[in-house]
Amino acid sequence: MRHDLMDILACPICKGALKLAATREDGGEVLDGTLSCATCAEEYPIVDGIPNLLPPDLRRAMDATPSAPSIH
Ligand SMILES: [Zn+2]
Repeated sequence: MRHDLMDILACPICKGALKLAATREDGGEVLDGTLSCATCAEEYPIVDGIPNLLPPDLRRAMDATPSAPSIH
């Protein structure tokens, strides 16, 4: 994602401003990092340049989707 995207991004929960902490950048684009909300303290990951702004409940539900083979 580009840095100027920060101008239009807001926390999906409280509409608060998000703070960018980039861990990997290339040519002015953030490839990996974290967006954190100063208001409700929620954090949103940026993976491969895509900010994941799903509400945390939905994100955790997706993370919990079984993708590994069932344990016998
Ligand atoms: Zn928030």
